[in-house]
Amino acid sequence: MRGPAGNARRNAYLEALGIDRWVPRNAPPEAAPASEITRAPAPAPVPEPPPPEVSRSIVPAGDWTGLRQQVAGCTACDLCKTRTQTVFGVGNTQADWLVIGEAPGAEEDRQGEPFVGRAGQLLNAMLLAIGLPRETVFIANILKCRPPGNRDPKPEEVSRCLPFLHAQIALLKPRMILVVGRIAAQTLLATDAPLARLRGKLHHFGEADTPLVITYHPAYLLRTPSDKRKAWEDLKFARATYARLAGTN
Ligand code: URA
Repeated sequence: MRGPAGNARRNAYLEALGIDRWVPRNAPPEAAPASEITRAPAPAPVPEPPPPEVSRSIVPAGDWTGLRQQVAGCTACDLCKTRTQTVFGVGNTQADWLVIGEAPGAEEDRQGEPFVGRAGQLLNAMLLAIGLPRETVFIANILKCRPPGNRDPKPEEVSRCLPFLHAQIALLKPRMILVVGRIAAQTLLATDAPLARLRGKLHHFGEADTPLVITYHPAYLLRTPSDKRKAWEDLKFARATYARLAGTN
């Protein structure tokens, strides 16, 4: 993504984001302003064993194919009755970056892929703006099935589905987790703090202490474009943190 072509592409996406290019082009990634460092609790234990026919579907598999099959066949909550299909996640299974959203929407439920609607297009632009074409990262959601009417996930749905995301994280071993939106952030950090208090800081997730950065959900940014500038700060912070920690700077 670097070099004149890379810069031009990045600038085009910054324009799509509605962000002025006031950042010096050749400036190195900014030092992490991490005002605070927080540690997320270790992944929640697998929930209480439900009835036998359900428990089979939520034991995380140790390989991508097995895990994908388990997600596809999951009947652990009522969302299986209203879904068109499960939405496992998409992308590079060797990726350093994992992007985590909330739950599939209508278009994702139809296509079986996360972030393919309007919010997905903005997410792609956000990622590309920091040099990450969509296909270079892995994208997943807290929930693998669409909540009807795009309502918020229920706590029981989250607790039944979260082991799948934990299994994905264990297989992927990401070096950076980018969380979009309040619900995904609060779920992963086991907090009810507002998004305003969670963004702009470096968090860590799980036993591997994976660096985790939080920004706005692209669907929110579509409704509130005035916050795109703050999202851009978050993205630069995530990129600089990754570069610093991964030694790629
Ligand atoms: N919003 C999300 O959080 N995830 C998707 O996959 C789509 C929209």
